[in-house]
Amino acid sequence: MRTGIATVCLSGTLKEKMQACAIAGFDGIEIFEQDLVTSPLSPEDVRKMAADLGLGLDLYQPFRDFDSVSEDILQENLRRADAKFRLMSRLGMDTILVCTNVGTATIDDDDLRAEQLSRLAQLAGEHGVKVAYEALAWGKYVNDYEHAHRLVDTVDHPNLGTCLDSFHILSRDWDTAPIEAIKPEKIFFVQVADAPKLSMDVLSWSRHYRVFPGEGQFELAKFMGHVARAGYSGPVSLEVFNDVFRQSDVERTAVDAMRSLIWLEEQSAKWLDAASLVPAGAGGDSTANAAGRRRYPMELATLPKVAEPAGFNFAEVKTDEPAQLETLLGQLGFEFDGRHRTKDVQLWSMGQARVIINEQAPSHSEPAIAALGFDVDSPVIASARAQQLKAPVVPRKVQADEEVFQGIAAPDSTEIFLCQGSPDGTAAWTREFGEGLEHPSAGAQAVIDHVNLAQPWQHFDEAVLFYTSALALEPQPFAEVPSPSGLVRSQVMQTSDRAVRLVLNLAPVIQQEAGQQGSGARKSYQEHIAFAVDDLVATARAAKARGLDFLRIPANYYEDLDARFALDPAFLATLKELNLLYDRDANGEFLHFYTATVGSVFFEMVERRGGYDGYGAPNAPVRHAVQYDSLHAHHVQR
Ligand code: MG
Ligand code: MG
Repeated sequence: MRTGIATVCLSGTLKEKMQACAIAGFDGIEIFEQDLVTSPLSPEDVRKMAADLGLGLDLYQPFRDFDSVSEDILQENLRRADAKFRLMSRLGMDTILVCTNVGTATIDDDDLRAEQLSRLAQLAGEHGVKVAYEALAWGKYVNDYEHAHRLVDTVDHPNLGTCLDSFHILSRDWDTAPIEAIKPEKIFFVQVADAPKLSMDVLSWSRHYRVFPGEGQFELAKFMGHVARAGYSGPVSLEVFNDVFRQSDVERTAVDAMRSLIWLEEQSAKWLDAASLVPAGAGGDSTANAAGRRRYPMELATLPKVAEPAGFNFAEVKTDEPAQLETLLGQLGFEFDGRHRTKDVQLWSMGQARVIINEQAPSHSEPAIAALGFDVDSPVIASARAQQLKAPVVPRKVQADEEVFQGIAAPDSTEIFLCQGSPDGTAAWTREFGEGLEHPSAGAQAVIDHVNLAQPWQHFDEAVLFYTSALALEPQPFAEVPSPSGLVRSQVMQTSDRAVRLVLNLAPVIQQEAGQQGSGARKSYQEHIAFAVDDLVATARAAKARGLDFLRIPANYYEDLDARFALDPAFLATLKELNLLYDRDANGEFLHFYTATVGSVFFEMVERRGGYDGYGAPNAPVRHAVQYDSLHAHHVQR
């Protein structure tokens, strides 16, 4: 698949954007007019630079408001087009995007439109330019790709074709199957963008909230599958208008963008495999390849296949001041298993829940979640896949005869280790902390239920794509939770059997800024590891007897709980006594409690009863408010 990206997706100058696209590995780019107009580079400079970087200049865009106008405006538009066609020849570019009229259209007549587009195609032909006509979702008279293509068909000129943009098609819920009926030589360009499902006007949605494939909720593999079955084999180019990407680091965004296309390519191939029994469109032939997929002119590369992870292997907290953390874990019922035989690292466990305290941290760094281990079928294959998706590799020093972990860095710099899973939950590496530790102890049992990671605002979407593509986690629809300093956006990523549940939180910017005023090593917001036990009340009682500092829940909460659920008075009294939170839905019940925070980390203990599948979302505002209060009190004391 030929990959591309529009310069409008990225921050920086045209030169910086082009360099970043080349480094990220794109085949070509779309030049967004404003990037050229504001650039000190001449068109010849741009042409030479693209050639030197090995980047194709695949599309010039946009040319707006051409058709459906009176004759005097059309004359003016043709003059404007002529100037752009001359410019394109200096750039060495041959395809221009012309979108349907939004602003100046006054005549709703398909015959007139076809005639005007025919005159444009004629002029384009004289300059050797191809016009890719795109239906904007908010076009005044033409806002549907099938309508735009009927006009292209009517004009029937070799220099006029269609541009298919997934945003304009999927934001309007247009059926994508008819794409297969378009002749491949009439599809001049394909643009892809994903987006979260939002209910707002389409123009604002498009201009601010487009995201890269895999970061939103559109069915892009299906869209691409139809495009491939139509027989198209030209560029597939990202056109993503997004307020965050436009102010983020350009090279990093370009890599995130490239990852999204690599992932989309694989997903499209999968969709085609699944749909291979359905007759192909005009472009496909009937021969099947080894994988059973029909051959299409568009070649779709695949990636090393991985199944979703089978569970958490461990969670690692880093600090050079571990005393408070040791106390907390001990009070929760964790056993200290020992120290690593060569490194300044401790192992704690409670049944299959393993927590590593890594003391190899810069001095005075308060505890922060530094790494997560996931059980996978094959660490080597999973690591190869992640690296092909451009995940940075994490080097970890190991001695001879120690287990070599395959590690990659997540966008928020959490280290992700791909560990060899085993059906009985043993982990060979634990032997490095002492003989016999690979077998979970017979004492109190727990598993890691979920881990909640706070994401910096500029890397949130990137993180969703990272965990989706590299680790095969499934993103759930996001929720927004009120907190005293703003709404916290919460995105659950999980496996189908829920053995791995990861919650990504987008903390309000004000919280992130407050945190950044602390020491550099300190994370700016709170994150937690949650452990599931069979009997939460007993766990809480034992923890209380050991002196655990619970997150203290206000009495108002319990009154409200009683009003909502009419709980048994003795049970309600127990919840209140132990600072337990409670939730119930049609599937079951959820009991949980939180510890006080150390550094940026706190712990949660949960009990799931019946088929309860959530995280106690109605209780999250209470937690945020109490934590805000105690953080504030803490600052005042200082
Ligand atoms: Mg477009
Ligand atoms: Mg939680």
